[in-house]
Amino acid sequence: MGGVRLTFYGGIDEIGGNKILLEDGDRRLFLDFGFPYKRHKRFYEEYLKPRSGAGLLDPLAMGMLPPLEGLYRHDLMAPDLWHQFRKAEHYRQLEGVDGVLLSHAHLDHSGYISFLNGDIPVYSTAVTAFISKAMQDSGKADFDQQVCYFTPAYRDKPEGWQQPACLSGASAKQRQFCIADMNPEALNPEALQFWDYGFWEKKPRQKALDSCAMKGHHSCSLNLKCFPLDHSIPGACAWGIETGSGWIIYSGDLRLHGKRSQLTRKFIEEAGSLKPRALILEGTNVLRTGNVFERDVYDNGLKAIKVASGLVIADFPPRDIDRLTTFLQIARDTGRQLAILPKDAYLLKTMRLLEPEMPDVVSDDGIVIYQETVASKSPKVWIREICRECGHKVVLAEDISSAQDRFILCFSFWDLNELPSIRPRPGSLYVFSSSEPHDEEQEIDFRRLGHWLEHFGLKSFGLPVETADGWVIPEAEKGLHASGHACGADLLEVARGIKPQILIPVHTEHSDFYRENLSGSGVDVVLPSVGGTVEV
Ligand SMILES: [Zn+2]
Repeated sequence: MGGVRLTFYGGIDEIGGNKILLEDGDRRLFLDFGFPYKRHKRFYEEYLKPRSGAGLLDPLAMGMLPPLEGLYRHDLMAPDLWHQFRKAEHYRQLEGVDGVLLSHAHLDHSGYISFLNGDIPVYSTAVTAFISKAMQDSGKADFDQQVCYFTPAYRDKPEGWQQPACLSGASAKQRQFCIADMNPEALNPEALQFWDYGFWEKKPRQKALDSCAMKGHHSCSLNLKCFPLDHSIPGACAWGIETGSGWIIYSGDLRLHGKRSQLTRKFIEEAGSLKPRALILEGTNVLRTGNVFERDVYDNGLKAIKVASGLVIADFPPRDIDRLTTFLQIARDTGRQLAILPKDAYLLKTMRLLEPEMPDVVSDDGIVIYQETVASKSPKVWIREICRECGHKVVLAEDISSAQDRFILCFSFWDLNELPSIRPRPGSLYVFSSSEPHDEEQEIDFRRLGHWLEHFGLKSFGLPVETADGWVIPEAEKGLHASGHACGADLLEVARGIKPQILIPVHTEHSDFYRENLSGSGVDVVLPSVGGTVEV
């Protein structure tokens, strides 16, 4: 047996933050390198953040990044940084990492790639690479979420700290993406040109990405397989790695009840045929006994919106394109238009470069773009471009306000500060199509959301209410959110279908579930500890 080592630096007893090191001899890969939301929230909130000027010190000292000397960007380190971590638990020297196998573009899987040495490549599907770039281009650009490109913050000089370099686009560095499902020979010349000069093209303050096909990339000598999956963001995949101990499969996040469920079924079949040594499987919703389907969301949403008068606001998870198209269909079927934010328009436009069946934000009459009322005086390049291309369909608060029953406005809690400009008519409807609160901070936000609705006299549909048993969606308003994660029975179907020798649960707070339900199945369930190593 080859002695392959799997070390779990995140994703254990927490949903997200996956950072799994796979070592096979001198070959090393990370399976995701995610932002640890749960641990981050224990210490930080909106106005209490890791100090960007302190670089790696804060995330290392607060246990959000594992103390692995040699793994991270040099420009974020004070010269004496490692002195204080060499005696820390799980400290080790770690050099020569061949890459990160990224499962999808949710930040709890991708966010902390920002901190990795700039020469460590990321392996992903083309859609994941594109979404990651669109998210970064249109996001807040926090120093700890610069997944695709970053501006080196400090010059390496032995005499110590330097002031952060100006965060201009000019000196930004890009991380190499190795695209698993890109085969340049199979692409027609037009598509190839798109690839080289389209979205990837370098624009002012909007970096191009350095990319190559996975097949032509030689830094990793391991045999890899990428399995496309169904999840609540397009482009998700699982990974297979052929090691000295046999195939190791890493599921990322998945479901069997979404619009692309046939992808997950194909994954089960193909991964199973490899007779894998180990399966690292997510378990977000192991305790859930059933699924809501996107079709249910359509039916229930339509039922509520059909009879609504005044404005309809739809609140659903960002980057859930399936949900966006569900509400687009509801808008069409109720004689309304879907008003989306510029960043959603940018994401749709980006997705369409790879998936031509996506709605065309420029020409689709069903979609308009809501421009925030107090727009920046010097909007970023991506906003300017969206507004230039879609100028004929930009709507402002007064346009919505004067024709409220003609729109479904895609807003989340974070956009509610636009309401004083829109002044929704009393009796307008807030449709909540996302998950219930998971922690105290979200509970506070939910109470705040309630106050906004009350203040403007909005009715709600699908919104969880606080009861003695926690936050519960009223019975008659259920079925407005199809989760990105498989329920318990479906996860067992995945495990039994792939039938690995060893199953290692991650991305769950209930890892015992697999041990309880797979006993006698021939699958050995191994529960790792945080920072612990499993030899397979
Ligand atoms: Zn996810």
